Amino acid sequence: MTARVSGDVPEAPWARGAGETAALLGVEPVVGRTAEEVRAWRRRYGSNTLRAAPTRSPWEILLAQVRSVLVVLLAAAALLALVLGEALDAAAIAVVLVVNAGLGFTTELRAVRSMEALRRLGRRSATVRRDGTIKVVSADTLVPGDVVIVSGGDVVTADLRLIEASKLRADESTFTGESTPVDKATAPVSPDAVLSDRACMLFKGTAVTRGAGEALVVATGMRTELGRITRLVDEAAPETTPLEQRLERLGRGLVWIALGLVPLITLTGMLSGRSVLLAVQTGIALAVAAVPEGLPIIATIALARSMRRLAQRNALVNRLAAVETLGATSVLCADKTGTLTENRMTLATLEYDGGVAQAPFDASDRRVRHALEVGALCSDATIDEGDPLEVALQRAAAQSGIERGRLLEAAPEIREVAFDPEQKLMATVHREGAGFRVAVKGAPEQVLAACTSVLGSDGPRPLTAADREAWSARNVALAGGGLRVLAAAERYDTVAREAVYEDLCLVALQGLHDPPRPEVRGAISALGRAGVRVMMLTGDQPATARAIATEVGLSDASRVVTGAEIARGADPLDAEVVARVTPGQKLEIIAALQARGAVVAMTGDGVNDAPSLRKADIGVAMGQRGTEVAREAAEMVLLDDRLGTIVVAVAEGRVVFDNLRRFIVYLLSCNAAEVLVVALAGAAGAPLPLLPLQILFLNLVTDVFPALALGATEGAADIATRPPRPAAEDLLTRAHWWRIARDGALVAAPVLVVFALVSRGTVGAPGQAVTAAFYTLALAQLWHVFDMRGSAGGLVRNEVTRNPYVWGAIALCLGLLALAAGTAAQVLHLVPLDSSTWAWVLGASLFPLVTIQTLLQVFEHRLEL
Ligand code: ATP
Repeated sequence: MTARVSGDVPEAPWARGAGETAALLGVEPVVGRTAEEVRAWRRRYGSNTLRAAPTRSPWEILLAQVRSVLVVLLAAAALLALVLGEALDAAAIAVVLVVNAGLGFTTELRAVRSMEALRRLGRRSATVRRDGTIKVVSADTLVPGDVVIVSGGDVVTADLRLIEASKLRADESTFTGESTPVDKATAPVSPDAVLSDRACMLFKGTAVTRGAGEALVVATGMRTELGRITRLVDEAAPETTPLEQRLERLGRGLVWIALGLVPLITLTGMLSGRSVLLAVQTGIALAVAAVPEGLPIIATIALARSMRRLAQRNALVNRLAAVETLGATSVLCADKTGTLTENRMTLATLEYDGGVAQAPFDASDRRVRHALEVGALCSDATIDEGDPLEVALQRAAAQSGIERGRLLEAAPEIREVAFDPEQKLMATVHREGAGFRVAVKGAPEQVLAACTSVLGSDGPRPLTAADREAWSARNVALAGGGLRVLAAAERYDTVAREAVYEDLCLVALQGLHDPPRPEVRGAISALGRAGVRVMMLTGDQPATARAIATEVGLSDASRVVTGAEIARGADPLDAEVVARVTPGQKLEIIAALQARGAVVAMTGDGVNDAPSLRKADIGVAMGQRGTEVAREAAEMVLLDDRLGTIVVAVAEGRVVFDNLRRFIVYLLSCNAAEVLVVALAGAAGAPLPLLPLQILFLNLVTDVFPALALGATEGAADIATRPPRPAAEDLLTRAHWWRIARDGALVAAPVLVVFALVSRGTVGAPGQAVTAAFYTLALAQLWHVFDMRGSAGGLVRNEVTRNPYVWGAIALCLGLLALAAGTAAQVLHLVPLDSSTWAWVLGASLFPLVTIQTLLQVFEHRLEL
């Protein structure tokens, strides 16, 4: 194959002209790369990905730990069997080893693969020009020389040399630590310019905050600046979530218990005068019994299943453990525009000096005309693209015959002071005739403060103190109707003037209508029932915020605090509506909530929202409306942009946590039973009631399937109406440990009784004792699955009995037990039982279920999930 790569990646592209860079790369910007060129360049430079960080999750580590101890134990057991001449046992243990490893590996691989596939759905894309047409491709496929089209809100996906830039700005804080966005242009800079001075470049991993442009890819993957840093910085430890840490701790603890048990039991066995063989066998049996071998796999599978279910319901979660955090969410901070409202704005009202105009506007009045002109001039939008607020102003102007394009012909824009969310103002400066025209729009109180005059019917007149009060009152009245209010102002200068926000002439208040989303009311009340406090954090003013909050049904919409009040020390938790917050204050509010133990979910869509999305426990970005930057920062992306999807996600998070507890309690109580059976028999000086291989069979076969089935339980009846669990609560509380011990004892008791009875020949024959104990335990553990119901639901009808997988798992396990008795009897040391022994076994196996259910019923002491 001849890779036809003409051209090369130029050195220091920031010091070269755009045309020269394109020529060196061998690309025609209006055409872009051809498909063939892309292939050839990819062969040479590889895909545009950073070196895949070793994706060894804590799960795998945990799994490896548990398994390695297990493997050592089993290998020791096999060796021992071999030494003692029990070749069949040795072979059987070896088979178990291989099967277990293979099974674990494939199931986990499957779960991991499906998660990866889900993550790919949320994978980054780039808009490129290839073969002369614009297309959206996966960012991984970018090659040097690709022509990328960027606009505000994009995450930069490769290192780029700009060839076109319009009002382009980028947030390069990733590299420079400087959070103020920097202006970008196409002009080359000095070859030794440091990274932050390379104004004609965009770097992978930074964010375009506004504007639009086209650029050439000059570096991909590890060759980018980000790649260089990645190489320098040692792979930071992957962030582990509380859940992962808890599971890891639990796993490690159990492994240590197991390791401690072996010598202890072996030693006491030997001291009490037993044969070394039996003592060692008992020790190994115990260690095997103590470790829930299936736990990590089952946890991974359950979480992966939830991730898939959420994806089907339009919520993409990017981390396994985030699903679980969702269930603990106690506060949802929602932004107003776009989340609670449609973000489909129309200019409804203009309030000018001495009058009010409603849409459609008659521009023959000078004050109306000027108001529409300011809206059209002071803008980044076009009639169909841009900030919906600005688009609405453009549309309203155009409908009255005022077109931005034509205005600009007469008054070309020479400067723009971009909208700053802290200041809440924006301005453009235009050359008009011999002088300059400044057009300003922004938050009414800010604009009013910068005005000294007001446009009356005969031209500007001074703004008196009384006027200011009247205008403030008009603003509040307008906003009280739920309208988003901006003020428009202007100034005519004869000479260019640096300051824009002073000596302005107030033109009008612009009232924009943005209807609440229809489904929001229902979602908010559902969240309320689930004990999730919904707060609205908005940059808009209190009156508008209050009106919208009331419309969407926030429970305490009347109380509103403002960002300024918070800055003066007011408690943001006093109210459900926080108005006029700045992006920085959003962070503080989240921190304050978290300091009080809240688990905070936060919605956002803009570039400004990224820090608070990251800060929140669950950042929620909107898939359709949100910017790439916001989606990147979020833990969860709502593909349908609906608040109702959060309700679904919270419920799913609770279900998955309940299920985690369900099967962990189940598995551990089964293990506890096994440990108790072996240890108590040992203490009583009795022979070993269960052989290591039998315990292994139980742990790896008959426990795993019911536990897996429990992991797929649908939510309990009260899942959406109970309060969120405290964030600090452990995976297993003291009550759960108590239950594990109690259930373990209740399961162990009948096994020991049957073993004792059969050993003595009271029932059956002594040779059947081990077999009878094994079957009693196996069946008791199977029935025990029905004890894993939560506090809602009845004895017969509850979430466990409704779970078809549970019934399937029981049927499967009974089949496997029959199969084992038929084909592997010799290996498992199982002998046929006579019918009276069977009757005892069956009866005894029901004892734990009956007792526990009676306890539940009588003492109402249920498994609090
Ligand atoms: P939310 O999404 O919660 O409603 P927000 O989007 O209103 O918040 P910001 O975008 O920070 O929050 O806007 C804050 C205020 O700044 C607005 O209420 C408005 O008065 C003013 N403003 C917003 N956009 C512009 C703009 N493009 N030009 C001038 N002023 C603006």
